[in-house]
Amino acid sequence: MIILSNYELDPISAQLFYVRGKEYVSCPSCGYGLRVVGSRKRKYINKDGDKITLVIRRLKCSNCKRIHHELPDILIPYKRYESCNIENVLTDLKNSTVAAEESTFYRWKKWYEYLSIRILNYFVSILSRLGKKYIIFVNINLMTYLKKYPKWLSRIVTQLVNFNLW
Ligand SMILES: [Zn+2]
Repeated sequence: MIILSNYELDPISAQLFYVRGKEYVSCPSCGYGLRVVGSRKRKYINKDGDKITLVIRRLKCSNCKRIHHELPDILIPYKRYESCNIENVLTDLKNSTVAAEESTFYRWKKWYEYLSIRILNYFVSILSRLGKKYIIFVNINLMTYLKKYPKWLSRIVTQLVNFNLW
């Protein structure tokens, strides 16, 4: 899986778009070049609750032969809703206007708990190499910190996926 930050969504019809990447991408597993070996459809639910289908590229690494799919950064791997919807609910459920089942919100919260532990583990791992005195910063409530940054969820997921840490 690769997440694109620089791309265009080319409309094929009102609810079908082709994702055109505008950046060079290399294999997240080994760093070698990729070639296009096909495409597939990926559905999601956007901000307005509309069901959209994207045509995403299927790429194969010239070295390790792994297959990667290119997702635009509005999506999170294996999630049906657009990233901004999930971020909205995680950041401020009370004021959220996302139309989804209560059980979906619950699943996102559980998923975030797992994700936040991973994020904190990466912080600890990186900061511990810089010296123990920085460890104190990981005691903060992660959400208090994250919600200051618009698109925090998409930005974190992009980094984790593209560094092969997903
Ligand atoms: Zn590779």
